[in-house]
Amino acid sequence: MSQARLPPCIPLPLEHKLLVTVIEKAKDWALMHGVGMRDKKHFTKDSIQIAPFVLLPSPFPSTEFNKAVELQPVLNELMHKVAHDVEFLEHTLQNALQVDEFTANLYDIWIKVREEGITQSISLGLFRSDYLMQCTEANTIKQVEFNTIASSFGAITSNLPAMSRYILRQLGHGDLIKKMPENGALSGLCSGIIEAYDLFGVASAIIIFVVEEVSYNICDQRFHEFEISEKRPDIMIHRKTLNELYEETTVNDKKQLILEGRPVAVVYYRSGYEPSQYPSSREWDARLRVERSSAIKCPSIQYQLAGTKKVQQTLASPGVLEKFMGGGATTASVRDIFTGLYSLDFDESGERAVDMALADAERFVLKPQREGGGNNLYGAEVREALLRMRHSRERAAYILMERILPPLVSGYVVRPGAPVPPPLTDLVSELGIFGVIIGTKEKIFSNRQVGHMLRTKLADANEGGVAAGLGALDSPFLLDL
Ligand code: ADP
Ligand code: MG
Repeated sequence: MSQARLPPCIPLPLEHKLLVTVIEKAKDWALMHGVGMRDKKHFTKDSIQIAPFVLLPSPFPSTEFNKAVELQPVLNELMHKVAHDVEFLEHTLQNALQVDEFTANLYDIWIKVREEGITQSISLGLFRSDYLMQCTEANTIKQVEFNTIASSFGAITSNLPAMSRYILRQLGHGDLIKKMPENGALSGLCSGIIEAYDLFGVASAIIIFVVEEVSYNICDQRFHEFEISEKRPDIMIHRKTLNELYEETTVNDKKQLILEGRPVAVVYYRSGYEPSQYPSSREWDARLRVERSSAIKCPSIQYQLAGTKKVQQTLASPGVLEKFMGGGATTASVRDIFTGLYSLDFDESGERAVDMALADAERFVLKPQREGGGNNLYGAEVREALLRMRHSRERAAYILMERILPPLVSGYVVRPGAPVPPPLTDLVSELGIFGVIIGTKEKIFSNRQVGHMLRTKLADANEGGVAAGLGALDSPFLLDL
């Protein structure tokens, strides 16, 4: 099917001089409100540069936006249940574990802490469910993936509607700002961390953010620290790499994780989701130590395992959603957001999936059990990889997903160091909805939707990671179609 096109929020293109002027204003707004990142080429802690952004808010159908918002607590609860279903996770991941060392390492930690007895039964989830719209007559949302670890851009994108409103006013379209939903992601995510901290209930306790060796996406992380400090001046936050955790923490006889003599209430991972973040056994040892301790983990190891692509694919198999959710209308609305997802295990349906993908590779995306962007295969690569792996056990580490073809939108992407003005280009947007959940296997204490992010990329790019330099931050302009 050919790609539909959504109308821009105001008539485009903009006249050259106006465009140049408004981009200059937008860049300054961005820099002065932390819509920024560290420069990867010339890294220095003394400055940030603008994060790539889309000049005007991109159109998104309001019915689909609202649907995603309403579904978030349902999906939070679903993933919480999945994470606490030992048998389901074991069964779902068993083949991938044979060939995927990273997932196997996570899984081993989970086995160890269960055998020893779980010290902290409460998990904190700061989740993000991602969607592309599928071009049909109605343009309905389809889930790309569900993130359970280091779900990013909640902080920066909370600022973006204000930037878009400013730009619209500068262009004489202030009347349109009512079509832009408020975004409370930062405050909502931080309220989750604070709630977990209070559940831990030790006055002298601290919070640790687990970070990369070098944080390029510094604004998005620091805003959480600033927000928590503003709301709760009594809470101290430390930023530590996994290696520093290994060096500097201990676990005491009460199983408390101790840093600089103080117990740790919450460990919030903004790193630890990809193999390169565990360069040696020390990082894995640190992860195990945290998991063994009484600190509340965001995410706990079982939340991270529940966020694997393999789980997503299995949830789309017949009867599985029903097992977790029963068979009502809500279950049907969750099924509705799934696109075709296929296992590549060595069985009859796995063989069928391989044949189907080889026959028309352009229709599919091949995904390993990885997070963080840049790992999936598309089009000709799908075919190549399947031909190579067809008879190898390696293929069980992948899932096959139908490729979603989103409607086009027109826009200007503003990038650091790029010529001004940028060309008017065809773009596609990916919506992320943030959710907070806190609970144990038996009881959910909190479960809510807290905000959104929109990330937009060139229509012909396969992936749109902002940190990877492919996508641009955006905010939705709701269309009543
Ligand atoms: P990661 O965990 O690496 O972020 P994702 O599943 O989110 O993996 O895929 C990365 C990107 O690839 C998405 O943000 C989206 O742009 C693109 N993508 C993933 N799945 C699909 C799909 N089924 N159809 C079209 N694009 C997809
Ligand atoms: Mg993703």
